[in-house]
Amino acid sequence: MRAIRFHETGGPEVLRVDDVRPPDPGENEVRVAIDLAGVNYIDIYLRTGLYDPGDLPATAGKEGAGVVEAIGEGVDQIAEGDRVAFFDARGAYADVVVIPAERAIPVPADLEREQAAALPLQGMTAHYLIRTIRPVDPGDRVLVHAAAGGVGHLAVQFAVRAGAEVFGTCSTAEKAERVESLGAAAIRYDEVDFVEAVLERTDGEGVDLAIDGVGKTTFEGSVGATRTRGQVILFGQASGAPDPIRPRELLGSRTLTTASLFDYTRTREELLERAGEVFRGATEGWLHAEIDRVLPLEEAGRAHRLLEDRKTKGKLLLEP
Ligand code: NDP
Repeated sequence: MRAIRFHETGGPEVLRVDDVRPPDPGENEVRVAIDLAGVNYIDIYLRTGLYDPGDLPATAGKEGAGVVEAIGEGVDQIAEGDRVAFFDARGAYADVVVIPAERAIPVPADLEREQAAALPLQGMTAHYLIRTIRPVDPGDRVLVHAAAGGVGHLAVQFAVRAGAEVFGTCSTAEKAERVESLGAAAIRYDEVDFVEAVLERTDGEGVDLAIDGVGKTTFEGSVGATRTRGQVILFGQASGAPDPIRPRELLGSRTLTTASLFDYTRTREELLERAGEVFRGATEGWLHAEIDRVLPLEEAGRAHRLLEDRKTKGKLLLEP
């Protein structure tokens, strides 16, 4: 089978197509024939070595959806032929992947195949940000960075659905159009000071909640654009790690939370509940992962370049 592996950490060029033996599912594991794999920023962090990729060579990719083609001993809740999705696999950029059965998420029959592969990681992240950490209420004011991006455009949809007034930053006119089409006010943070723009539109108060997955270039501004007693969630660093801060001086009476999806899907019960709500949003039609493009599996390196170069809106998928 084909697997996109890296034998050393580095730029997108380290991703190469290797021919490897298909893995057999062990006890409590299932093997999934991958229909589509999702591309996420964490794949870049692992490829560059910012996050520890473990033993090398490593197969890239954590997310995808497909059909169970073999089950290991002890698996009783999932059967061959079931459609499943996942977000924390080791090696989703491949023809098949083996995952623990307890991490396999059943896919509803009426969910489109692109949505099944696109929503697990970024959709559940948007869900825990807007529904769990700081449940957004009608009338709340929310700032979402990289609002045309993968997590961003889904977080905007959750916040708008909750009745919030949403401000979404982004870097091009095309992305701004997309952000506006989702029901948020777009702010071009490449052109204007987004803190001033937010304060101007909130009577100098600032937002109740700022969702920051950009990091270095936005973090201090996110705090400045948040009202006293408001909350900032720092959940990513697409532009690099934020500079060190003096918490009391910077935050004042605001709350700062950092978070990872893995900590919000720790038990099978929580995983299925969260995924179920995300998939339900998609089948009901109010939540939709915008598919930027579907590239052949072999073009994983190109997919990473596009994501790193800020050339994508919504979701990138790879098709084996
Ligand atoms: P996106 O599709 O959002 O892509 C990143 C976006 O960030 C770009 O499109 C770009 O939008 C913006 N950006 C701003 N500055 C830079 C820069 N210097 N380099 C690259 N991009 C930049 O990616 P994802 O949705 O996959 O991930 C977004 C963030 O969320 C990442 O930091 C990721 O690690 C994090 N994340 C965290 C999770 C968690 O649970 N903690 C789970 C999932 C993702 P624009 O051009 O509009 O500025």
